[in-house]
Amino acid sequence: MLNWLRRGRGSRQSTSAVQVETASCAHLVLMPRWDAVEHMGKAELATGYKCDACGHDLTREEGQEALQRGSRLFGT
Ligand SMILES: [Zn+2]
Repeated sequence: MLNWLRRGRGSRQSTSAVQVETASCAHLVLMPRWDAVEHMGKAELATGYKCDACGHDLTREEGQEALQRGSRLFGT
């Protein structure tokens, strides 16, 4: 669980190339993130999401909208 969170955060630097990708990305696979360690693993308590494809950070509201449009959580 912790391993993939670290990998997702560390593997991508924010560059202008990422921004271009973000514009055309549908954010189909979202990695939830949590502010409180004790909430980790509980999707309903996620404070935000990060797109696995483009690395874009989504707010909790944006992430839930994307999930309703058919996106899925990372690992599901
Ligand atoms: Zn994306």
